[in-house]
Amino acid sequence: MSEPYCPSCGSCGFPMRTPEDFAGGRIGALYCSTCGDDSGELKPYDEVLRANADYFIRQQDLDAGVAREMARALLATMPAWRADPKRH
Ligand SMILES: [Zn+2]
Repeated sequence: MSEPYCPSCGSCGFPMRTPEDFAGGRIGALYCSTCGDDSGELKPYDEVLRANADYFIRQQDLDAGVAREMARALLATMPAWRADPKRH
């Protein structure tokens, strides 16, 4: 079975499979709907960090502080943030 190429978000690594997964519903956007705004541009770091922490809290029922640290560690490894140390 051949999987179609599945791009992942450059900010959080989320696999983007449906139009709704992409920022602004734009297939081909570099970021997912959590990390990008309606025009497909990357949101500010603090917003992305909060959105990803909220996602962990919802998905894994984590404590807010733990979720925030996990989100911070995740983002630090991603291309969108790794390239710019000022954002850490
Ligand atoms: Zn993302």
